[in-house]
Amino acid sequence: MMPLVPLLKAAIAPAVDFALPPRCPGCGAIVAQDLAFCLACWDGMEFLSDPCCARCGLPFPHEMGPGAECARCIADPPPWDGARAVLAYGDIARTVALRLKYGRRIGLARLIARHMVRHVPDGVDDPPVIVPVPLHRWRLWNRGFNQSALIADHLARITGLPVDRHALRRVKRTRPLRGMNPKERDRAVRGAFALTPTHGLAGRRVLLIDDVHTSGATAAACARALRRGGVRHVTLLCWARALPHDGPD
Ligand SMILES: [Zn+2]
Ligand SMILES: [Zn+2]
Repeated sequence: MMPLVPLLKAAIAPAVDFALPPRCPGCGAIVAQDLAFCLACWDGMEFLSDPCCARCGLPFPHEMGPGAECARCIADPPPWDGARAVLAYGDIARTVALRLKYGRRIGLARLIARHMVRHVPDGVDDPPVIVPVPLHRWRLWNRGFNQSALIADHLARITGLPVDRHALRRVKRTRPLRGMNPKERDRAVRGAFALTPTHGLAGRRVLLIDDVHTSGATAAACARALRRGGVRHVTLLCWARALPHDGPD
């Protein structure tokens, strides 16, 4: 028989959550507002902004002129037209991403979307369609939700942009990429993504949403699938990205 106390706890959890003071999403300290970081966490986060590489978003030490790209993008262009991230990958960015993904703190998707808004490209005449990086259906079934799709939904609600959660599918189940070198990662995700035959994204601009961008292999495979389907312009938008000084990938 299930012990009674956990059952009772589960039953009253939403009410209790509601009554508790808001906590910092980074460290759990009590804060004045829901989904607000405490000062210490705020100071510990590296928000990314201009000037940066027009294609991959790599921060530049100084302004390089409109459309300037970094040496790596010029030598070996990634399959997207632009990429932006809210934060450089660090302890707090990682904590928030993990709490959303594995801690089921789905309210954090709204926090991430709120921070992403300022990076949404303006396209009054040609608004982009928001497309989340999809999960394989088995993983979706296991976890119960796709964190990138939750972020995409909130971003669509805030910006009024259309969102398409079904056009891009993960057709191949891939192992976690952690511990693989860039070549192995590319190989692991090759052919993993495809557009549905009836998708309506041909000729459109797409804003591809991912939570964390490390090697970029997954997002690159998504961008290639979008391109193959006739998408005209792909901008990748993430919560956090690894900068070259963070590690070998
Ligand atoms: Zn904090
Ligand atoms: Zn670049």
